Amino acid sequence: MIIANEKQQKLLLEVGTLDLAIGRAQTNLTEAEHSDSVESIRKQLLETSEALLQAHANQENLQSDINKIASDVELVEARIQRDLEKAKQVSSEREQKAVNQELESLKIRLSNLEDSELELMEALELAKVEVVKITQQRTQLNLELESELAKQNGQTLTLSAQLTELSEKRERAFTQLDEELQKLYNRKASRGIAVAQTLGRDCSACRLSINAVNFESMMAEPADHLPTCPNCDAMIIR
Ligand SMILES: [Zn+2]
Repeated sequence: MIIANEKQQKLLLEVGTLDLAIGRAQTNLTEAEHSDSVESIRKQLLETSEALLQAHANQENLQSDINKIASDVELVEARIQRDLEKAKQVSSEREQKAVNQELESLKIRLSNLEDSELELMEALELAKVEVVKITQQRTQLNLELESELAKQNGQTLTLSAQLTELSEKRERAFTQLDEELQKLYNRKASRGIAVAQTLGRDCSACRLSINAVNFESMMAEPADHLPTCPNCDAMIIR
């Protein structure tokens, strides 16, 4: 039979209650440190970072295609210029015809190149708009992340302060316990909840009902006796 006077029993209950509160505070702190919204924003930032790389690459490819076409246009224009000069100088009708045919096909080639250039320039405008859009999205996400982190940091600080306060209180109560009760408490706490109370005939630690006979004899014991729950072995403070 465990013997503990009223003051020691009160201290046991206090330590037990504080340990439960410390456990809850620790869970809350862990949750605050792993905020879902922060994770979600970080994920979106990663995704938009890939999208931005792709949009930049797309823009660069279009620009290099346009540069290539522009230099083709220059070449074709130079050849047209040369053929026009040549057309003035040729003497035979056969040569004249050949130059005219070449000029004809060069003009078609030039027109095709200019069409392609125009299409590419329109695509480039869209690509630039896409880059700006993603950049703005990322700016917005970064702002959200900053604000979420500040919120998270605030919560974490508050919870850490609570945890420190609870732990100090717990230590103050625990050191006032008799050494035997300290050892007993630690042994029981390592296996589960060390201290319980009764809720009707239920044990507050395991939530199981204590049978009527056990309950009656438990209640009939002297005040400085400390019964234990027949189900979970927690010390029951009556
Ligand atoms: Zn129990």
